[in-house]
Amino acid sequence: MAMKVLILNTGSSSVKYSVYACHDGNAKELTKGLVERVGSKNANIKCECCLEHDATCAVHRIGTPGTLDIPDHRAAIAAICDILVSDRCVVVDDLSEIAGIGHRVVHGGEEFSQSTLIDEAVIAGIEKCCKLAPLHNPPALQGIRACQEVFPGVPQVAVFDTAFHASLPAHAYRYPIPAALYRDHGVRKYGFHGTSHRYVSEQAIKVLDMPAEDTRIITCHLGNGCSISAVKGGRCIETSMGLTPLGGVMMGTRTGDLDPYLPLFMIKELGMDVDEVDTLMNKKSGLFGVCGQNDMRDILKRADEGDRDCQLAVSMFCYSIARFIGSYAMVLGGADAIVFTAGIGENNAALRARILENAGFLGCHVDPARNAVNAENISTDDSTCKALVIPTNEELVITTHTARIVGEG
Ligand code: AMP
Repeated sequence: MAMKVLILNTGSSSVKYSVYACHDGNAKELTKGLVERVGSKNANIKCECCLEHDATCAVHRIGTPGTLDIPDHRAAIAAICDILVSDRCVVVDDLSEIAGIGHRVVHGGEEFSQSTLIDEAVIAGIEKCCKLAPLHNPPALQGIRACQEVFPGVPQVAVFDTAFHASLPAHAYRYPIPAALYRDHGVRKYGFHGTSHRYVSEQAIKVLDMPAEDTRIITCHLGNGCSISAVKGGRCIETSMGLTPLGGVMMGTRTGDLDPYLPLFMIKELGMDVDEVDTLMNKKSGLFGVCGQNDMRDILKRADEGDRDCQLAVSMFCYSIARFIGSYAMVLGGADAIVFTAGIGENNAALRARILENAGFLGCHVDPARNAVNAENISTDDSTCKALVIPTNEELVITTHTARIVGEG
């Protein structure tokens, strides 16, 4: 019998949900949707119902825009439950069919190196990590608490975005700063997007015709947030984001790595306060800082029209990623595959080609025809390092981990 699991990704003002039927290690998405503007009287719910019965079923909007009152995450989850059992949604007759709930949790600190069945001790552990992810962990906790009320007794599982990076060796995760900051305050590299890096590296291992333990894979998650990982024999040994998701490659609005003196310069020399620097580095930098836009499609359009700032932003973006790929090839002692995923990585052939422009020395040559159609393998047949395009599927990882842990429990 298939087990139905509810997957939740709870953000500060939104809750994304999906329901999967899991059977024998396989998972099938039955329905999904999104509650937006949680905490307001003009919330909005979009849902794609009855995927099982009609894959082309349109996205429904529930409620008249501007009138839906969803004061908090509990109300959002209650609204999701109403949809799941409504006539509109034919995938669950009764909420008691939900056998488990999986939550995406951004930060698991050093405490959580794998997906975990949630109990009060785990909730306390996630709470402890709030100081490391003040924007992300508190809403996830609210989602977990809300589910305890709405689904009493149903097992819940936390799947951590940091967990895949728990295998980093100390020489990769420690910063060259006084050791007390690590010991007393947990200041180290944690890495993020781990569920995505896990999924695409596992898929890449299936594509590579070689023993899994020998594989050397560089995974590039290029969306609005961007990160690169080095995965050896299926284990992550290096990743670009750090203590927070601000580090690493240049992103849509985040700086990525900088001269670490820069924030001090802004405070000491330019008289900016800490919050201003925080906003500047997280929300006003990256592509947006250089050209005033953060959506790559808009930037490419303007770059094509001759906008110099957009052209520079694109060049800086590709260069930043190429530098990380090169350094990770050294970390891995070579590379068998370079994987592209997320919005930019999955969809843009021109940027992939530019990023890999100098990858010939690694044995990686882009095949233009394959690249143009976003083929799974976009490299030439004689490439010893394959370039792969693998659409990420974080929800599937959360689902399979949830089903496994609930099944074992
Ligand atoms: P994500 O965070 O994974 O949803 O990715 C969002 C980013 O992907 C945005 O910057 C989009 O502009 C970008 N994106 C999506 N499709 C394309 C495309 N065909 N070409 C370039 N960028 C794209």
